[in-house]
Amino acid sequence: GSMIGIIGGGQLGRMLAMAAARLGYRLTVLDPDAGCPAAQVASEIIVASYDDVGALGRLAKSCDVVTYEFENVPVEPVRAAIGVALLYPPAEALEVAQDRVVEKAFLNGIDVETAEWRAVDSIEELGHALLDLGGDCILKTRRFGYDGKGQAIIRPNGPYADAFESLGSVPSILEKKVPFAYECSVIAARGTDGAVIAYDPAENVHSLGILRRSTVPGRVSPGVAEAAKAIAARIAERLGYVGVIGVEFFVLADDSLRVNEIAPRVHNSGHWTEAACAVSQFDQHVRAIAGLPLGDPVRHSDCVMENLIGDEIGRVAELLAEPETVVHLYGKAAARPGRKMGHFTRLARR
Ligand code: ATP
Ligand code: MG
Ligand code: MG
Repeated sequence: GSMIGIIGGGQLGRMLAMAAARLGYRLTVLDPDAGCPAAQVASEIIVASYDDVGALGRLAKSCDVVTYEFENVPVEPVRAAIGVALLYPPAEALEVAQDRVVEKAFLNGIDVETAEWRAVDSIEELGHALLDLGGDCILKTRRFGYDGKGQAIIRPNGPYADAFESLGSVPSILEKKVPFAYECSVIAARGTDGAVIAYDPAENVHSLGILRRSTVPGRVSPGVAEAAKAIAARIAERLGYVGVIGVEFFVLADDSLRVNEIAPRVHNSGHWTEAACAVSQFDQHVRAIAGLPLGDPVRHSDCVMENLIGDEIGRVAELLAEPETVVHLYGKAAARPGRKMGHFTRLARR
């Protein structure tokens, strides 16, 4: 059959590999770790770093389409290596999503509201930005942050030089803290023909910067759901996007929305779709990048998805005994603190 290449072999790559296999595709993974979670599922693995142009070139040569499971793929090596194959989602989406300043400027430029923000490259600029924005603020590195890493909260009139240095004194963004009532996210997909689908939003709860739980529909009203899906569709269209995209939102007390960030890939808050929908986010991504028709995002059940983080993997025996619970483990060896080991989805039939 045809070949799909994927840059990154973590749990997202593994779940994409499973979906690709089910649709009859062979999958090659490029990852520096031969023992990565996706290696157990992929047809082939190229062990190399993500910026290895030669290895990326070999991946592109052997595949019809190349995709990725994380937004920190270095754009220039990928651009240089991808000649014959298609890269989906396109490199432009990668460029927007991997730099928080470029991302927010893009969103505001298409009339999508975000937290108020300022680009910050020095302690002096940080001082000005804090006076400008006022109130509680969050300083984040522009690039490479995930699971709340590379962030520092700064209180009004509080010290701030340490915060900038604690992030490594790298180009950063200062965001005004959004007084949200709750958070939600939309998983959407856009096909090569421009067709867009969007799942109903999940209400998300984070703890220590890591996604804890996604509930569908949770507190998300039908009105908020429609507005959030429309914003996700607009973002996908303006990016000329192909594939699955995750859009994270803050929902204020008056039901107005601010986009927190976008993820140009399948998203942890969409894992519930494998249990509650006929076509999961992983199937949807494979369909989109392979030029197949997208599936209906309707769900047969309301549900709650929870991550198994670190030693919570010890809950598995108890979860396996539950009748309406779908358990998914990533085959990772050691349970380090903060490491995502698996997730489970409890279904509530509608
Ligand atoms: P991810 O693993 O989702 O990529 P990340 O490291 O990119 O996480 P963010 O999504 O920017 O981090 O922030 C993590 C969490 O911190 C958010 O989901 C939200 O709970 C909180 N947060 C971040 N920015 C703000 C803000 N401007 N106002 C209020 N809360 C915020
Ligand atoms: Mg992020
Ligand atoms: Mg986030």
